[in-house]
Amino acid sequence: MSAALSTDRPAAPARPPGRGESPGHAAPSGRASERSRPASADDEPEDATDVLVVGGGVIGLTAAWRASRAGLRVTVLDPSPGDGATHAAAGMLAPVTEADFGEEAALRLGADSAARWPAFAAELEADSGLDVGLRATGTLTLAYDGDDLTLGRRVRALQEEWGLDSTEISVAAAREREPLVGQRVAGAFWAPGDHQVDPRAVHRALTSALARDPRAAVVRRRAGRLLRAAGPSAPGPGSPVTGALDDAGVEHRAGTVVLAAGADSGSLLAGVPEVRAPTRPVKGQTLRLDAPPWFTLDHVVRGIVQGRPVYVVPRTPGPDGHREVVVGATSEEHPDDRRATAGGVFALLRDARALLPGLDELALVEVTPRVRPGTPDNLPFLGPTTVPGLVLATGHYRNGVLLAPVTGAAVDALLAGAPLPPTVAAIDPMRFSPAPAPAPSSSSR
Ligand SMILES: Cc1cc2nc3c(=O)[nH]c(=O)nc-3n(C[C@H](O)[C@H](O)[C@H](O)COP(=O)(O)OP(=O)(O)OC[C@H]3O[C@@H](n4cnc5c(N)ncnc54)[C@H](O)[C@@H]3O)c2cc1C
Repeated sequence: MSAALSTDRPAAPARPPGRGESPGHAAPSGRASERSRPASADDEPEDATDVLVVGGGVIGLTAAWRASRAGLRVTVLDPSPGDGATHAAAGMLAPVTEADFGEEAALRLGADSAARWPAFAAELEADSGLDVGLRATGTLTLAYDGDDLTLGRRVRALQEEWGLDSTEISVAAAREREPLVGQRVAGAFWAPGDHQVDPRAVHRALTSALARDPRAAVVRRRAGRLLRAAGPSAPGPGSPVTGALDDAGVEHRAGTVVLAAGADSGSLLAGVPEVRAPTRPVKGQTLRLDAPPWFTLDHVVRGIVQGRPVYVVPRTPGPDGHREVVVGATSEEHPDDRRATAGGVFALLRDARALLPGLDELALVEVTPRVRPGTPDNLPFLGPTTVPGLVLATGHYRNGVLLAPVTGAAVDALLAGAPLPPTVAAIDPMRFSPAPAPAPSSSSR
């Protein structure tokens, strides 16, 4: 973190605008205007921070890092930062090969974020001094049998309709790229722009970047509920969110609260009925294998095996020539039980080895079950709410690693009072919230 920012402590808590509020405050210079002060600013404890981020996964820490970069004081509240979905994620940056029927808004958001990854990684690496493992490898998709090839061609037609860069290639051409491709493969597709990053390395880098900022803190406690300012009568509808109460009964006050608690986010809104951001856990299991030097897989390999999706993500080899290979992922409508199941491991290995038989020889070193933050329409909740002081950054479902840079850009825009990136603005974070009560008439009649 630059020394220039660390001397530029804001005079008052910064508050990105709620919907309908006027922007133009909480500038990155760190000076917040009187307008940006919460209704209860006079009552705020001296130790209130500017931004409180509830949840320290890849999304929460991205928000925190951007706030820290903007010269604001930031606190992250999380009992176990990085141990949610972020810990399981394979790190595919794959807007093209994730594109699905009826999900064009998600595609546009993902493509926007993918384009931001190189600059995001470079800035984060410079701030943290750590490598995030961004690899521009492209993605090969293999179809196992004739039916899988038919399905692959339907998806390719959709990708073409949406102007995405993806082509069908011969199996021989696939094997030229990846000699480890097995004998029983019916067809192949190539998406040159779908890459990968190491999510655990990204999280380490975000943690390190924040640790370098003396005004940033990570508090290892769980938020029990959000706090609201006392309005004219009592805390309630319309009153600002002013912080969170942790599981030790400690209040953390802030000018702005960013809710980024992954699949648990929706339940933390119990005391804020004006805002509904329904998140649900969608369990996924990934496997981590240790590959010796002869396992030369270089590209991300995705596949459809008798209708089932599977992927294999090889990392950069270490100094000993060994590399981590991630195989994923199951998708189960199941709560966060953290149980690795025999059936999940079996299904992933059965399908992955059908495409890349050499996987049989690798050591299985880890099975990681975690839950994705799913939403009813597979789109995130990202942006300001009608409740002053409350910003949503959650529900990134299957693509939170991909979406970290565009989430960061949204946070930058909010703090600067600038417009959100259009791909973010296109997705209303309040789309599941109750319609606001009509304003009382100002007429004296
Ligand atoms: C198996 C699997 C594979 C995936 N693969 C990919 C991939 O290849 N590419 C990709 O882009 N995405 C992938 N994802 C999705 C990606 O991991 C998520 O979208 C992303 O991690 C969401 O980040 P998050 O910070 O919102 O949530 P999380 O990483 O889940 O973090 C939420 C944090 O909130 C904390 N928390 C929860 N409740 C509270 C509370 N009450 N108070 C304080 N803190 C709280 C948790 O401890 C946790 O640290 C995958 C996910 C899974 C499960």
